[in-house]
Amino acid sequence: MDLSFTDEDHAFRREVREWLCANIPTTERSTDPADARRWDMAWQRKQFEGGFGGIAWPTEYGGQGLTLVRQLIWFEEYAKAGGPDIGCAFVGINHGGPTLIARGSQEQKRRHLPQILAGEEVWCQGFSEPGAGSDLAGIATKGRVVGDELVVNGQKIWTSFAHMADFQELLVRTDPDSRRHHGLTWTICDMHSPGITVRPIASMDGLEEFCGVFYDDVRIPLDNVVGTIGGGWSVAMSTLGFERGTGFMKLQTELSVVLEELIARATDLGGLADPSVAVQLGDLRADVLALRAMTYAMVSSAARADVPGPLGSMIKVFYADLAQRIHRAQMDIVDVQGLDRGGPFAAEIRHYLYSYASTIGGGTSEVQRDIIGERVLGLPRNR
Ligand SMILES: Cc1cc2nc3c(=O)[nH]c(=O)nc-3n(C[C@H](O)[C@H](O)[C@H](O)COP(=O)(O)OP(=O)(O)OC[C@H]3O[C@@H](n4cnc5c(N)ncnc54)[C@H](O)[C@@H]3O)c2cc1C
Repeated sequence: MDLSFTDEDHAFRREVREWLCANIPTTERSTDPADARRWDMAWQRKQFEGGFGGIAWPTEYGGQGLTLVRQLIWFEEYAKAGGPDIGCAFVGINHGGPTLIARGSQEQKRRHLPQILAGEEVWCQGFSEPGAGSDLAGIATKGRVVGDELVVNGQKIWTSFAHMADFQELLVRTDPDSRRHHGLTWTICDMHSPGITVRPIASMDGLEEFCGVFYDDVRIPLDNVVGTIGGGWSVAMSTLGFERGTGFMKLQTELSVVLEELIARATDLGGLADPSVAVQLGDLRADVLALRAMTYAMVSSAARADVPGPLGSMIKVFYADLAQRIHRAQMDIVDVQGLDRGGPFAAEIRHYLYSYASTIGGGTSEVQRDIIGERVLGLPRNR
């Protein structure tokens, strides 16, 4: 690993800290989808105008052209300053934009990247289907090439923020005779196209961020295909590499802040007098430090590659388990009784319930372990 902070990095950190201190939103984000979208986009735009949008994105598309180390510094300071959740900007910023940077045409980059950064476009991800989640190569949504268009029919599910989105990373089967990862195509789908129906799905934390998306003869210009027709699997692997790798950087850095706040709270409540609580918190702090070391190693290796490798899967497994343990410990230490989402512990309960998603979203922990076994340890394939 080669990661050290230069004098310029330290100066950047001070600049970020000051900017965040002056600009972090103080208003509440509404749960109404239209208001939430406006709120998320306004905050994204403010970061962009402040010179902190797309820190590691190329300057010709509105980014700052800085290193991933600077991006990491931004996330660390953002977490310390209590910056809000990225909300519906998640897909565009964390993996839609990065996929276009790595695999898109000049025209696709020019058309979408500045708009994503400026908070003018919301993206969502249309990969999972009712019969194909972990087994992504089993997708059945069809894209038929007709003239210079793809005509799409089928269904996606668990599409976060589809009801707020303008564009989608859509993976479809364009060769009807193909099997598994052959004959798939990754395309940019305009979510306002005729033939798209979006149905929100409520999750147990009370939010309606998931959706089912239905496609009925949806016409997409072939110019929107990223990579080649039939070459979508490799583009999708790039997307997942970003999602599981650099896309999780912010969440990883946030976890240390959550834990330090919990330790302070436990101290106030006298909980550290119980040796088992002190040991539990000590173990969690050690694991948070291990997560930080792994994140630094990923930044160091991602700086030398266009697309993050399987190290992202190792970090994701570790992060997902740790997030669940920290939010469970919070429930125990603060002594939350029951799951009343409207009561005084609403925030703790929401975070605890949401932590269940961490071992599923972006690919389950079991699937990440398969990837680690095959691609890091060189073990035989599981299927
Ligand atoms: C918060 C969140 C956000 C999400 N957002 C999106 C989104 O925006 N777009 C999108 O396309 N999808 C999204 N998803 C869906 C997510 O990608 C899938 O839920 C995930 O890939 C698992 O697929 P599945 O739900 O079909 O479960 P299944 O694949 O049916 O898995 C069920 C169980 O079987 C296990 N399993 C399956 N295969 C194997 C195997 N080979 N070896 C060992 N165990 C196995 C799994 O680990 C799991 O425990 C989101 C999910 C969450 C939780």
